[in-house]
Amino acid sequence: MSRYAHVIVDLSADALDRLFTYSIPEGMEIVPGQQVAAPFGSRRVEGFVVAVDGECDVEPEKLKPLIGPVRDYPAVLPELMALADWMHERYLCNLVDALRLMIPAEMRGGRVRERMRRRARLLWSAEQAAAFAKDNPRAAKQIELLNLLARGDCETAALNPSALKALREKGAIEIYEAEARRTPLSLRGGESATDFELTPGQRRAAEAIVSAMDAGGGRFLLQGVTGSGKTEVYIRCIRHALERGKGAIVLVPEIALTPQMVNWFHARFGDSAAVMHSGLSAGEKYDEWRRIRFGEARVVVGARSAVFAPMENIGAVIVDEEHENSYRSESRPRYDAREVAWRRAARSGAVLVLGSATPSISSFMRAMPGVRPENQLTLLELNERVAGRPLPEVELVDMRGEFERGNHSVLSGRLKAALGECLGKGEQALLFINRRGHSTFVSCRKCGYVVKCGQCDVSMTYHQAENLLKCHYCGNTLPPPKVCPNCGSAYIKYFGAGTQKVAEEVRRLFPEARIVRMDVDTTREKDAHERILNRFRSGEANVLIGTQMIAKGLDFPNVTLVGAVAADMTLNLPDYRSAERTFQLITQVAGRAGRAGKPGRAIVQTYDPDHYAIKLAAAQDYRAFYRRESAFRKSALYPPFTKIARVIYSAKDEDPAREAARADEARMRAWLDSAGLRPDVVQMKAAEAPISLLRGEHRWQLFLKMYHKGDFDAACAWMQALSDAAPAGVRAELEVNPVNMF
Ligand code: ADP
Ligand code: ZN
Ligand code: ZN
Repeated sequence: MSRYAHVIVDLSADALDRLFTYSIPEGMEIVPGQQVAAPFGSRRVEGFVVAVDGECDVEPEKLKPLIGPVRDYPAVLPELMALADWMHERYLCNLVDALRLMIPAEMRGGRVRERMRRRARLLWSAEQAAAFAKDNPRAAKQIELLNLLARGDCETAALNPSALKALREKGAIEIYEAEARRTPLSLRGGESATDFELTPGQRRAAEAIVSAMDAGGGRFLLQGVTGSGKTEVYIRCIRHALERGKGAIVLVPEIALTPQMVNWFHARFGDSAAVMHSGLSAGEKYDEWRRIRFGEARVVVGARSAVFAPMENIGAVIVDEEHENSYRSESRPRYDAREVAWRRAARSGAVLVLGSATPSISSFMRAMPGVRPENQLTLLELNERVAGRPLPEVELVDMRGEFERGNHSVLSGRLKAALGECLGKGEQALLFINRRGHSTFVSCRKCGYVVKCGQCDVSMTYHQAENLLKCHYCGNTLPPPKVCPNCGSAYIKYFGAGTQKVAEEVRRLFPEARIVRMDVDTTREKDAHERILNRFRSGEANVLIGTQMIAKGLDFPNVTLVGAVAADMTLNLPDYRSAERTFQLITQVAGRAGRAGKPGRAIVQTYDPDHYAIKLAAAQDYRAFYRRESAFRKSALYPPFTKIARVIYSAKDEDPAREAARADEARMRAWLDSAGLRPDVVQMKAAEAPISLLRGEHRWQLFLKMYHKGDFDAACAWMQALSDAAPAGVRAELEVNPVNMF
């Protein structure tokens, strides 16, 4: 019987986003999800088999036969095939772009394969080896090798070559080839750990999740204050899943920043634990992926793409620090890993657990009464830290007062004193600098001129090590001006504080401090994050200075002081979420203090001590913040009370970008009228984008804000169609719920 394969070719082009049918040659085994090689015009391409069929509606003679399978097993599981299909609909992306997420990039085009190593195995019995040792007391190297191999096989690379050769000639050992797994750094340690005795709160939470798992699914929001032991709750749920023969996926925001989390999982679950993230080498990624695909690893910890882990029979999908922006992919295909996790858990009858000390407003709202059942999350709260430890005391310092009193340092008097005290007691401190607010821009104190990138219309950042101004968007550099280009005054200074500046100040004040810095500049190399954190953990360093990278997830028992040097920079961003972000950052970073026996303290320096986000973060009162912030969003008609999308038009010249946006505005208006959606629209408008120049391109946007009840998905589909039809020379891109409003 003839059989046919419907294939998505692995080429990304809108025109190719459809199925191509091939005949399957007699005797070739092909199943859906398999990667295959196929002729395409005069080329050979790879593709994914979406379906296999016994009949086809094209004349069979017109079909070309498949060349053959690329791998002998389906790389994309049926469940992930369905998920890709759903993403195609939900995120309006090409199916091939969704399918590509399901396997490590290097598996396409055969750029990675198993690592093979030569190994030695002992053939002699213990008696034979003992007899040899007795008769040849001077063959020390050979005897040593026999003893080593008696304990197990070894890779030959590390062994003495002449001893190997001699023993091989005697028939004592044999050499063979075997796959050598490439183990990610974070999984190499040999330590193991036992479970804690749960606190009553942890037990209640774990029990609720576990019984939902047994009942075939459920969705939870685990809101626990910093240090309340959320991880231990996850671990119990995962253990339960494993006992039931199921697996678990744990998503963390950026795994490089939380190597500790991986260590914990490795210590509890041993080789059942796998990691997936972009910091791994191609070989490590491939090996981890296969361990999951073939069921050797049943617990996956990873960054957002781990939501596509090739795991069958999942019991739990856990999203830690669910409020983090890194769960959204900003490049094609754009997706939100929390949404995908929701979908995947629902489809496989797994429980979904979203965890955070500071849940996003939109998730928390789903845990409140009055939500439709299909959108609902069950709220589980951990209101206390483990072992009766107190939350850190948070103190606000008004930096305007410091300036008036003549203290022009980046460190307030309070923070200096506390730092001295902390280091004096042999404890550790963490200093946090919020870089998002362009804290190191160069501006003129006389006329207010700010040095901006000529390509991007954003302020440039001062880098002391190179004495250069850099644009963080396009990489443009400039020497810092000596006088103001605008008014000629010499009072042009770099403003605020970067990590370097703070490090210098601490070094000046406390020459004996042992400082490590963690920011984009110090973490470029592979595994750099982990090395820096290890130096701090081991006590080799006692002050860790860093950006957002150090705000979350870290658990260092000896940290008793946290200083937020400039925590409120994010308040001034042109974004409706700026209060939420500021609240989250301050609460999270303060939560790094006092996590073991010793009580902790946080000092938050601010220029805006009366802002509710700052005050309530200092009080660590999430509920009060939620009430305040959701009331604001409701009255100002911001998400989650409305939905937002926009199309960004970029072009070399401004005119085409503006005209494309204006023309689409007119089309959009007509469409909204004909679809009867006008009453559901809060705002629909073409305007210059908040960052009007980026990497040398002019930007306009078509902005849409809709009430919740309106058919937002239909409007997005229409906007996608508009952007697909953008005129030549204009790049148009749809952003649904944009992460940044710039
Ligand atoms: P969170 O993520 O809620 O901030 P973690 O999961 O990092 O908290 O846990 C904080 C610390 O408490 C960790 O060092 C963890 O090992 C420890 N811990 C967790 N549960 C318990 C428990 N039941 N008893 C004692 N210590 C615990
Ligand atoms: Zn000036
Ligand atoms: Zn630039």
